[in-house]
Amino acid sequence: MACEVTIKTKNIKSTYFQTPTIVYTLHYSYFSKMNTRNILLVNPWIADFAAYDLWAKPLGLLYIGKFFRNYGYDIRLIDLTDRQRWGDGKSSTPINNRGKYHKTNISKPAAVAHVPRQYGLYGATVEQFISELKSIEVPKLILVTSHISYWYPGVSETVKILRDFFPESKIVLGGTYATLYPNHARQTIQPNYLIGGYGEKQSLQLADSLFGFTRDYSAVPNTLDSGILPWDLYPDLTVAPLLTSRGCPMHCDYCATPFLNPHFSQRTPEDVINEIVFLSKERNVGEFAFYDDALFANKTYHIIPILKSIIKHKIRATFQTPNGLFARDIDSELAQLMKESGFKTIRLSLESIIPEIQTASTNKVSGHNFECALDRLEFAGFQRKDIETYLIMGLPGQKYSDIEITLRYVFEQGAMSRLASFTPIPNTRYWDLAKNSGHVWDDMDPLLTNNTLYPCATTDFPVEKFTELRQLSNRLNAKVKNET
Ligand code: SF4
Repeated sequence: MACEVTIKTKNIKSTYFQTPTIVYTLHYSYFSKMNTRNILLVNPWIADFAAYDLWAKPLGLLYIGKFFRNYGYDIRLIDLTDRQRWGDGKSSTPINNRGKYHKTNISKPAAVAHVPRQYGLYGATVEQFISELKSIEVPKLILVTSHISYWYPGVSETVKILRDFFPESKIVLGGTYATLYPNHARQTIQPNYLIGGYGEKQSLQLADSLFGFTRDYSAVPNTLDSGILPWDLYPDLTVAPLLTSRGCPMHCDYCATPFLNPHFSQRTPEDVINEIVFLSKERNVGEFAFYDDALFANKTYHIIPILKSIIKHKIRATFQTPNGLFARDIDSELAQLMKESGFKTIRLSLESIIPEIQTASTNKVSGHNFECALDRLEFAGFQRKDIETYLIMGLPGQKYSDIEITLRYVFEQGAMSRLASFTPIPNTRYWDLAKNSGHVWDDMDPLLTNNTLYPCATTDFPVEKFTELRQLSNRLNAKVKNET
């Protein structure tokens, strides 16, 4: 049976979401224990109808943590979605590097009350979060990140607890949601400060002003991408997501990256290898996930030397690529190096074989590029049935037949399809198209952009048709699996 969690702090009493648990009463003799250079980083809960961990860690927050350390601050991390730390709710099951998060059922927000699915918070239980907060010193500054915009109720619940627990601390909100929906985030989360975009230098200036430090900011870069991330914040690290670059040289009309990361930059291959060698040899990490948007860009000077070094250093690890790879860059040499270095899950971006959508996708891959990449990967030793192909579905104006044709095309090539439902994102051309057709509006609740709702469904192309396409994809994938 569900009951309420009530937290009592000094003079504050707050009630949180419904969960089967007990009433907590907290005593704060340690309110006076405020470390002078102590900053708490918090990765909040995910709030959604479903969520799955694909080797994720809050990389943006870790980059900020590295930056702060570099400038003399002590940092501490609470990552509420760290499955290695909190478990997945099934204590008898070993935690794999990817899998389901623990889910705490909560009431659906009003905007999505009509959806016939159970809503929830994914990650640590509220008891685990509170126990962790009890064990730490009061931070003067708390930086909370945010990810997919329609997950914001998870941020909201996290910040409510932080605020009640540490009423004297200042809370800064950053990340994707804060950058894409600053007004909504200010009103809903009510942080003390909101920082959009690259947050490193701004956060440092803010921290210095709160802690009473001064420094010459003309000598401080906006970002610090080189060097090893503060992985010591994860005592039980078994998988490490990596970014070898920031941003993307493409400008697809539906993607948030050009707005969130307007400048494409790459770390040096030596710097990337140092981090991989460190994690492999010093932390025994056996699995890595490249989270780059454009891992193969500038391949001769970037990914090729990285993979050659992985092989040279005899790194025994598996490399995953959860984001789509650029098929047109996969030549025979690169395919061979991917195989030799230990690439496992291969996901290629195709999006569509319809010319109009290929144009909207910066023509990053043609059917010919895709077919050549499959041939080369197969020749290098990968099986087609292990290669997944990202296809976009649900763009304003996109036809059912266009998606069906693309699905069947991928099937004919012997590869697996993976449909990605379109989410309208502010500051993109497709947001404007969705706005023109009345599917989105300027001050809309980001909850309504949840891709499971198919925000741009129409009477001609209703939600049931999207479900039909998903079923078709599943059927075709099953055939690919069984026939090879
Ligand atoms: S290639 Fe991918 S990451 Fe780059 S702009 Fe296009 S969709 Fe975004």
